[in-house]
This record gives sequence, structure tokens and C-alpha cells, in this order.
Amino acid sequence: MGDTPVRNRKLTAACAIGALLPVAAAALIAAPVSAAAQDADPQPAVEVSPTDASPEAPDAPTPTSESEIPPAAVSSDEVLPVTPRSGVADSTVRLSFAGDVHFADKVRKQAGSSGLRTLPGLIGDSDIAMANLETALTSHGRRTPKEFSFRAPTRVLKTLKSRGIDVVSMANNHALDYGASGLTDTLRARASSRLPIVGIGANTADAIKPWVKDVRGTSFAYFAGMNAEPLSDEKNPAALTRKWATGASSAGIVLTPKNEAALLSSIREWSTKVDVVVIDMHWGIEATPCPSGRQTSLMARLRSAGADVIVGSHPHVLQGAGFAGSAAVAYSLGNFVWYNQFSKYSAVLNVDIVNGKPAGMSYTPVKIGADGLPRRATGAGAAWVRARMASGARCANLSKTPRA
Ligand SMILES: [Zn+2]
Repeated sequence: MGDTPVRNRKLTAACAIGALLPVAAAALIAAPVSAAAQDADPQPAVEVSPTDASPEAPDAPTPTSESEIPPAAVSSDEVLPVTPRSGVADSTVRLSFAGDVHFADKVRKQAGSSGLRTLPGLIGDSDIAMANLETALTSHGRRTPKEFSFRAPTRVLKTLKSRGIDVVSMANNHALDYGASGLTDTLRARASSRLPIVGIGANTADAIKPWVKDVRGTSFAYFAGMNAEPLSDEKNPAALTRKWATGASSAGIVLTPKNEAALLSSIREWSTKVDVVVIDMHWGIEATPCPSGRQTSLMARLRSAGADVIVGSHPHVLQGAGFAGSAAVAYSLGNFVWYNQFSKYSAVLNVDIVNGKPAGMSYTPVKIGADGLPRRATGAGAAWVRARMASGARCANLSKTPRA
């Protein structure tokens, strides 16, 4: 197959499927994405729900560390098929979330229009797909002296959009990798981009402003933020806040705790205007499989402000997924388009919204190849992802089903 985008989540496709296979929303709540397990796809998305905890039993014991995982059977050139949405009622809106994306080193090749060709196979059945874009968008500026500094040409916004990503967060520790002039270029790119960017702006109000979208009568507001937990290359959160956080009249990213009051107040306001509030947080400690105390306490504050879906990244490894009360939570989705760092296994998370509420979660295990591209993980690799998702949900104290 060539580079033809194969996304099939357009309204027409969804309506046609809905007409052929009418499934009541109530049935969907009982078995959130069970239809995915019935379709012809040999590697269905894996449910968070216990009813389908191991749809494909591993043929070998689950490895305990990544180094024990045998090479995947998927060829490095394979373009994966789109998972059909068969059986998903038209009233359901599927949101997908992926982890960190950059275009550094060997991933640089993915920046152009022929790049990111595996993405439609992983997010093609979602109505809104989001990822964390972890880079400055500039060809100018001076590299910030830190362990890793990333930049990418602005055309990556077009490439991401053409491969099915609908919105990106840039509230992260690489948005300012090329200083103030890099940020100016990034904001200029945002102004002319068809791909919405959240979590970054010319001032606090601009950076906090959500992206608002309606899908078949369900309304969404998407926010993004970063928590200033000590980072591997920035040990001092106070200095980091000074340099990166947006202010009343200064550009930057939405960074908590400095911008937290403004962020929570905007979430409160938008939770009364839209059905579903989503936030993508960049937080936590790198390479840790369980969320930190800062993550769990901030999650609780975001939830009580009105966030319905709270996802995150930055640890570069999976931290499980599940429900905290009625909110769908995934503390870290690991890497997505990335060179191998900490983990080459991660997942794409799906959250199904029924009647304006998160009703079910599922995920597709992912393996990131040597080219930086994500592909569906199979066999022992997929089993390892499942084990990690399950243990992550346990240590994060997340449940498998929503509670009122
Ligand atoms: Zn990060």
C-alpha cells in the first residue's frame, strides 16, 4: 500500500455502519467496545473492562522486562489496516489519545507529507484523535542548553493532520527548546495551522483557551497543561516556571502550579458549556510505571473542576488506564512517534463517549519501530503491554468501569 490516508471515521462511514448494524447505546455501555473483538481484525483493541481482559491469550508467559520480549512479527514496512467501527452505535463518539510525538534524529524523516504512514491504522476509527507534540516548531532560535532539545519544521502540523490527528497538546518541556524566538515561530505556525494546538499561547488566557468541537451533537472542550515536577534536565521547578509558564501578558505554556487556578477555573466554566471536558497533562516522573503523588492529587483537582477525560504523558512509559469515579483517566500513554527511549512499547487509548459521558475505554498495544513509527504490537509484545496496563491501573487505583 502507498501513503493513501485510510481513515474511515468520517461521518458518512459511521452513519453507514450505524444503519447496517444498529446497536443500542445501552448495550455499548454494558460491553464498551465488544464489537471490536467481533470484527474481522485479527488483533482487536483490548478492553480495559474485565469482560475481555485477555482477548488473545499470550502464547508465551508475559515477559517481565522489555529485554525479554522477542522481536515482533510485524514487518517494518507494514501499513496496518484500519480497525472497522462495526457495531459501534452512531450515538457513540470515540476519542483516541496517543503519547509523545517528536521529529528528532531518525524520526526527522517523518516530518514530510509521506511521513507518519502507520498512524491511520492506529487512530483511523476515532472521531477525535489527540497526541502530545513535544517539540518547538521552528528553524530558528538558539538551542536551550539542556539534555535534549527538539525542533521540527512547521510542516509537521500538516503531516499530523493528514494522518488523522485532530488536535495536539504543546504544554510540555520541549515547546520552548529554542527559546523565545522558537516560541514566537511556534505561535506563528499555530496561527496558520489547520491542526489545533492547545496548552500554549501568547498569554495565560490564550494558552488556556480550549479547542471546542462538536461531534454528532456531543460537544467537547480540549485543554492541555503541564505540571512542573522536577525533570531529568530541569531539576529546579521554580526556574522552570519562570522560564516556561505563560503569564498575564507573556507567552508560554500552561504550567501548574503557576497557572493552575486559571486552568481549573476555565475547566469549571467550560464544563457547564459542553458535554465533555478533556485535558491532556504532561506530568509525572520519567520511566516510572505508577503515577506520582503530584499526578494523582492534580488529577483529583482536575476531576472535581469538571474534567471528564484526563490523559497524560511525559514518563515515556505506560501508567495504565481506568476510571476515577466517572472520569476516564490514563496517567501516561508513553511514546507514540519517537526514537526508542525508556520503552518501545506503548498504547493508543480509546475512550467511548455515550450520552455525553465516558462509558468505556479500550486500547491498542503499540510497538515503536527503529524508524520511530508506531505499529500495532502483537504476540508477547502485546501481552507485555496488557500486563503493564493492568498493573498500572492497579497501582493508580483506577477502576475498570465508570462510577457515578
Ligand atoms: Zn516530556
